[in-house]
Parts: sequence; structure tokens; C-alpha cells
Amino acid sequence: MPKPTPDLMEKIVSLCKRRGIIFQSSEIYGGLNSCWDYGPLGIELKNAIRNFWWKEMTQLHPEIVGIDASILMHSRVWEASGHVEGFTDPLVDCKECKRRFREDDLPEELQKSRKCPECGGSLTDTRKFNLMFRTFMGPLEDSASTIYLRPETAQGIYVNYLTVMNASRLKPPFGIAQVGKAFRNEITPGNFIFRTREFEQMEMQYFVPPDTADEWFEIWLNRRMDYYYRLGINKDKLRFAEHPKDKLAHYAKRAVDIEYLFPWGWAEIEGIHNRTDFDLRRHQEYSGKDMQYFDEETKQRYLPYIIETSGGLNRTLLMTMLDGYYEEEIKGEKRVVIKFSPHIAPMQVGVFPLVKKDGLSEISRRIEADLRPYYRAFYDGKGAIGRRYRRQDEVGTPFCITVDYQTKEDDTVTLRERDSLAQDRYKIGELREVLWKKVNVV
Ligand code: ATP
Repeated sequence: MPKPTPDLMEKIVSLCKRRGIIFQSSEIYGGLNSCWDYGPLGIELKNAIRNFWWKEMTQLHPEIVGIDASILMHSRVWEASGHVEGFTDPLVDCKECKRRFREDDLPEELQKSRKCPECGGSLTDTRKFNLMFRTFMGPLEDSASTIYLRPETAQGIYVNYLTVMNASRLKPPFGIAQVGKAFRNEITPGNFIFRTREFEQMEMQYFVPPDTADEWFEIWLNRRMDYYYRLGINKDKLRFAEHPKDKLAHYAKRAVDIEYLFPWGWAEIEGIHNRTDFDLRRHQEYSGKDMQYFDEETKQRYLPYIIETSGGLNRTLLMTMLDGYYEEEIKGEKRVVIKFSPHIAPMQVGVFPLVKKDGLSEISRRIEADLRPYYRAFYDGKGAIGRRYRRQDEVGTPFCITVDYQTKEDDTVTLRERDSLAQDRYKIGELREVLWKKVNVV
């Protein structure tokens, strides 16, 4: 079993800052706690993961369609969903050192003895703290204009499900997928981008006849794990974690997390939930609208059960960096490399002239231009070639093409592979196709 590696996180945070992948928000003002900005390579990686998920969850399934609901929704949505009343974390403060904790994060003996894990001081009584960000819509700051930033994207799917189903001529079992921002006023954000107050969720809600829900739950569990394998994550660092029955969320009949072995231990990257008909029933009750599906064939009317797959984009991104990070020694030289799967690598192919003169630069630029419509490609003509390779290894670029003097004689270039370090020669005209086979995963 692999072991957690505590100092890995520091290395990733510093690499992200140095290479402008992810850095503190509002840094010139001292930063804003737990808010992060994604730079050029960060956003490419994020988009690539998002697109892979989207393809997996919509394009590959004829019965799943996508939507993009607004972040701001009618306040009644959050009353119906149970978030206004119940989306709380138990908060405790230390009376001595004033540090703040989530009670359920503390070891059980400290929860019982009410002692601070940092200084041993005594803890306050538990207060329930609602995680929803609240603001006001329009010019009046009164309770009638209270509005919430959505704490999950799911509700935007539930309230729209009949419209989407009818417009797409679908019937259960079918799914609706969505990727978007969610906001939670977390008590203890941290571990870099693992737990933040603003984050992106990738959710798919699958609407099924109630008596088939258990079966679909199993199917989605396996499909979702398989997805992480195809994302290129090490299988022995992934596992399922079943929620004990007495710890299930108010809406869930069954819940299983997919966990990854982060440097500090196992932690959730995605939750798969059987939400029953809880949400649709509540929306029916609160809105007064009939939320039932009518089956023309059997003439039956029912509220579908919902199997939810709910993952975090930022957490997934962090996992791909941690999982792919290696320090290796090659011919006596140390290299840092991130072995992203080529289909999600922020940059997929670098094109380098061996030297900038004698027309090699121009040929490289032409190759770069040819590849750009198909791959995340770029040109780099600065510095010794070995250093250019190292710079790319560090941010996980899987392929580097080098144009040298032989190129002028026979139109061939070397293609260097990040992981095997193999350097093979190919005709310039073949590059697009050779790369296609190496980059794509279906
Ligand atoms: P946790 O127990 O870690 O707080 P959760 O069980 O509340 O997570 P869900 O409500 O199931 O999380 O949300 C689904 C997914 O959204 C999580 O698996 C995670 O990937 C992501 N997510 C949830 N909260 C955060 C957060 N504060 N920051 C980043 N990602 C988050």
C-alpha cells in the first residue's frame, strides 16, 4: 500500500506558483484566504479535465444531456432542498487560543473531553454554522431580497428536469450533467485547492424508475471508478468508501465516496449518492408544481429516484498533479516530472529549434502552426535544449519535437517522449497523425 507523502504538497504548491499554474487570489493585497487563481497552464489543465469529464458524461451516453443553470436561484429552492435549515457544520472555538474547528474533524476523545487539539484549552459549546453564502438581490437589503450563492449545482438540475427531459425527448433512465461553480463558507478551508470556499463541481444526476435505483447505483459506481483510471490515476491510490448508514445525509439512501490517497491521507474526490425522490418530492411540495414523470406506455405516474455522481474539478486537478509528480535521476541528473496522461496535459507538444539560426526557427514555427488547431502546442527557442526539456517535464508536457540540421536534408524531426525519454525521428508530414494516436483516450 503506498504511503502518504506529507512534503509533496509543499512541492506542488511551490511548483504551481513558480510556473504560474495556480497562485493566490489578490496577491498584491496579501491574498484572500483559500481563494486561488489559475494561470495559463492551470486553466488549460482545468479545461482539459472538464472536457474529458463532459465527453465521458454526455457525448458517450445518448441518454445524458447537459445544462448550464444560473448560480443564483429562487430562495425557495434552498428551503425546499433542506439547505437553509440543515446545511450546517458544527463549529467550536477554543476559549484560550481562539482557534476554530469543525467539531466532527476532531478526534473522538477531544470531542468528548472538549479540549483544544492545539493548546489543550477548553472548547466552547457547539454552534451550528450554515455554510451558504448569503447576499441580497436588488437595492433592498431585507429578508424578502435574500439570495444564496448555490452550495451545489444539483438543484439547478432538479428544478429543470421535466423541461430538459421533454425538450430532449428522453425518459427514465436518463441523465442531466452540469459543470459549474459552487460556494460554501467552509469553516476550515485548506490543503491548497482541496477545500476552498469557491470551487467547481462536475455533477451528473441520473433519473431512474425507483425499483431500478439500487442497480443503477452499482453501475455508476463502477463507471465512475473506471473514469479515474482512464484519467491516468494510479489504481492503488483510489478506493471506495461507503458511508455508514447512521452518517448518511438527510436526502440519501446510500452514499459511497471515491477517495484518493492525498499526502495527508485518504480523502473524497467524488460522492455517488442515491438521493431517492427526496429532492423532487420537496420541490413538488414547495412549488406546488407536479414534478412526476408520466409514462405513456404503462400509464404510470411517478417521481423518479436520482442517482447522483458529484465530483470536484479543483480536487481532481490537484489529484492529477500529486499523482503524476515524480523526482527521477537520469544519467546522474535530477529531473522533476509530472506524468499527466497526454490527453489532459496542459501543454501537449512543444516545438523547439535546436538553434535559432539557419532557418531552424522558421521551420519550427511552421510545425507549431500546423499542430495548433489539433493540440495544445507551443514554440520555445530559448536556452540549451536539455533545459528546455526539463522545463517541459516539470509541467508535464508529454511530447517535444526538435528541429535540427538533418531536418533541412530529409524533412524529419525528433519526437521526444516525456516518460520513456525515447527520441524517434518522424517525417514532418506524419506528426499530426502520430501524435493523434499517442494523445487520445477513448
Ligand atoms: P467534504 O466531506 O470533503 O466536505 P462533501 O461530502 O461535502 O465533501 P459533496 O457535497 O458530496 O462534498 O460535494 C461533491 C464534491 O464536490 C466533493 O467530492 C468534492 O470533490 C467537491 N467539493 C465539495 N466541497 C468542496 C470544497 N469546499 N472545495 C473544493 N471541492 C469541494
